[in-house]
Amino acid sequence: MIDPRRITLLNNCRDRSGPVIYWMSRDQRVRHNWALLFARKKGELLQQPLMVVFTLAPSFLNAPLRHYDFMLKGLQEVEGALRRLNIPFYLLQGEPEIELSRFARKMKAGVVVTDFSPLKISRKWKTTLGAQLTLPLYEVDAHNIVPCRIASGKQEYAARTFRPKIKSLLGEFLTGFPQLEPLDATTESLPVDWNGIRSSLKADHQVAPVDWLKPGEEAAAHCLESFLKNRLSTYAERRNDPNSGVLSNLSPYLHFGQISAQFIALQASESSVPDESRSAFLEELIVRRELSDNYCFYNDRYDSLDGCPTWAKESLIKHAADHRDYIYSQKEFEEGATHERLWNSAQLELVTTGKIHGYMRMYWAKKILEWSESAEQAFETAIALNDRYALDGRDPNGYTGIAWSIGGVHDRPWFERPVYGKIRYMNASGCARKFDVNRYIARFEEIPDFEF
Ligand SMILES: Cc1cc2nc3c(=O)[nH]c(=O)nc-3n(C[C@H](O)[C@H](O)[C@H](O)COP(=O)(O)OP(=O)(O)OC[C@H]3O[C@@H](n4cnc5c(N)ncnc54)[C@H](O)[C@@H]3O)c2cc1C
Repeated sequence: MIDPRRITLLNNCRDRSGPVIYWMSRDQRVRHNWALLFARKKGELLQQPLMVVFTLAPSFLNAPLRHYDFMLKGLQEVEGALRRLNIPFYLLQGEPEIELSRFARKMKAGVVVTDFSPLKISRKWKTTLGAQLTLPLYEVDAHNIVPCRIASGKQEYAARTFRPKIKSLLGEFLTGFPQLEPLDATTESLPVDWNGIRSSLKADHQVAPVDWLKPGEEAAAHCLESFLKNRLSTYAERRNDPNSGVLSNLSPYLHFGQISAQFIALQASESSVPDESRSAFLEELIVRRELSDNYCFYNDRYDSLDGCPTWAKESLIKHAADHRDYIYSQKEFEEGATHERLWNSAQLELVTTGKIHGYMRMYWAKKILEWSESAEQAFETAIALNDRYALDGRDPNGYTGIAWSIGGVHDRPWFERPVYGKIRYMNASGCARKFDVNRYIARFEEIPDFEF
């Protein structure tokens, strides 16, 4: 059963006779996907064929090759999995709202279904498309366990205000998934020319794909399996140690929708690990992750300091003219050329692996605040570097994580100090108390220079 509270009709049109199109966007998977399940059901009820479409924008928030590579390999697997279910898959290139509208007309579609994202770019596409279509545009929240609009009707102040709301709804939404039934007949779609698509990309080739994390639904499932079997049991105790390798590494898969958070939560809930580790992991996966969607959905200034709470902005303004011991440009940060080996190692981890350990991510962003000319500049630098190099970048979690570190979002005022004002402070000796800092540095200093 698909809970109707997952579904929002984005325009005022009624179902028409004609094929059902699922415009796959944020949730790029075949398994455990409420939007695809809803589209399949609609097709069955209306006795119409179903087709899945992905629109490849010429440039998506300046994503480099590393990201396109991860995404396209995942989509290639989606195409194959859909073919086995007799569901045709189309990949369109161009501005999504224009291409989709053209495609719907060409196919004489009756219904368009898409998935949910709180990001401005995606909401703009949907608003334009919804206004152009003379058929319904349904949005299904297939990313959040508790649909974002249902979890809360407003921007939440902190995890402590959001947690009780989401927990009270988990019993209703954290359910198993129905099977996605194959279609009887095939509507032919030509196979996608993946090589042609790759060579037409205008993405920045300097940020190369990584080879330590394989993209796609299958790889995501293996990653989850290995985490549950080998690492979840010590998550509570070791997750703040970047040398422990205990984290799940699921964020790139979650970002591209190659795995369902709901499926992960169900599997983790059933695993026989100590309660403390299970709860710590589910707190991050459910409360913190869905709080990020809440922040971006209800605050359209999520990607700048402007969106941060008044107490934080006032305090940063008060300390704007404070003396800074070091000031670095975005380029110096990017090259990991600060005076501090620990920070440079975190930046090298980001550049070479496409991910920074969760604990170091906070430290990384806070030092950008401390060593930038202004808090606004720091915010911009952190977003630019995170989005350029992190495989899970351009995500509500990234914007919210940076807003938490630099702008006090979901945090409270701390003791006032230079530059930071009342923003929570972190330093290298705090890191040294938590883990072997030299071991972390050694891992990344051995890496040969990256060509910038
Ligand atoms: C400055 C800064 C930038 C960040 N940028 C991103 C980003 O671009 N993309 C991204 O997905 N996350 C980001 N985070 C949040 C968090 O650091 C990552 O989600 C986590 O490190 C991903 O690694 P993992 O999947 O191995 O984590 P695990 O610890 O195994 O966590 C499992 C999942 O829980 C969720 N999660 C964990 N920590 C957080 C958190 N603090 N907030 C929200 N959700 C969380 C993620 O979906 C993660 O994949 C950022 C945090 C900070 C402080």
